[in-house]
Amino acid sequence: MIGYREARELVVSRVMGLGGVVETETVPLREALGRVLAHDIVSDLDYPPFDRSIRDGYAVRAADTGPGAQLKCIGELKAGDKPAAFVFACSCVQIMTGAALPDGADAVVMIEHTAREGENVTLDRAVKSGQHVVRKGSEQAAGGMVLAAGVRIGFAEIAAAAQVGAAHPVVTRKPRVAVLSTGDEVVDFASAPGPFQIRNSNSVSLGAQIALLGGEPVILGNAKDNLDELRAGISAGLEADALILSGGVSMGKYDLVEPVLREFGAEIVFDAVAIRPGKPVVFAICRGKPVFGLPGNPVSTMVTFGLFVQPAVDILAGAEARPLPFVRAMLTAPLSEKPGLTHFLPAQVTWLDETAQVSPVVWQGSGDVVAMAHANCLMVVPAERERIEAGEAVRVLMRGMW
Ligand code: AMP
Ligand code: MG
Repeated sequence: MIGYREARELVVSRVMGLGGVVETETVPLREALGRVLAHDIVSDLDYPPFDRSIRDGYAVRAADTGPGAQLKCIGELKAGDKPAAFVFACSCVQIMTGAALPDGADAVVMIEHTAREGENVTLDRAVKSGQHVVRKGSEQAAGGMVLAAGVRIGFAEIAAAAQVGAAHPVVTRKPRVAVLSTGDEVVDFASAPGPFQIRNSNSVSLGAQIALLGGEPVILGNAKDNLDELRAGISAGLEADALILSGGVSMGKYDLVEPVLREFGAEIVFDAVAIRPGKPVVFAICRGKPVFGLPGNPVSTMVTFGLFVQPAVDILAGAEARPLPFVRAMLTAPLSEKPGLTHFLPAQVTWLDETAQVSPVVWQGSGDVVAMAHANCLMVVPAERERIEAGEAVRVLMRGMW
């Protein structure tokens, strides 16, 4: 059985080979959050557009400065002012943060290091040429690359785009990801379940995970565990850019997803990965589209989405697959798990004196969706470890990052 890293690499390489979503659209910058750039954004001007003071103080010639040096103040510059005065030897201009350095000056002395009496300014120290000044074009040269195609737009990227006047960036179309849950026992979450039925939480969690990744969920409802409903559901799902099924991939008599996918001519890339929860996860390529059969237990569904579907959605959106964001945390109590499978356990990270500590949450296995809601991460127990001692460092995947 393959491990999760190998399985993830298979998803990345196979989905990259499919070509992805090529359509683009132009959106107002404020609506571009979470979208992926289809074109490079280049700088319209030099940034800063002038030699900019980054402190409140006096614009000076560095050669004139030193402890006790006396300068004559010949003017004042606020942010937005056009510099008028020329700073000649032993003179200075009072300058505010964000204002352009006047000609003649090559540095700024902070106001805190000066004393003023009328026009006379006394310094308590020397400054070097260029101190407290950011040179024109040093942050970004006109015409230079600010954000490359494929970048996902977050709050910092949106600010960089705003600075260079990219008010209407061209982004890729959101990949449409169809979600089909399966199971005779599954009913809509807004309805009252019968005595042996359960509400459909997977369609909702998958829709949320797709939306958080920047995809567009297409919720197809639930197919019963029979060939006709599965065929109809899969056929509808293959209209989207990718299809995710939940349930029906285990060894039960009514687990029919894999056989029906084969009927559709799917190439099954893998149908088991050495993880718990989520071992029977299926990844297939069908009619040029990635198809995932995720195990139906809600925690398995969430974990396998994070491990395997996430890179596919990134690639379809025109971005690079984001890496799994492992961080280290200190285990608070000893832990034993069956070796041979990599375990992803719902756990809670807390920060004590800025050190991450992690404790597993009590759970009844992969159907325990409430336990997952009380966890803020998945803790990784490597396949080769049977026992981990309290105080050891373990890897965790913080929720919200996968
Ligand atoms: P399956 O993978 O179809 O064998 O289902 C495994 C377990 O997950 C069963 O207990 C199902 O009732 C449950 N399950 C399957 N689909 C869903 C769903 N859409 N929402 C919540 N639980 C589900
Ligand atoms: Mg089922």
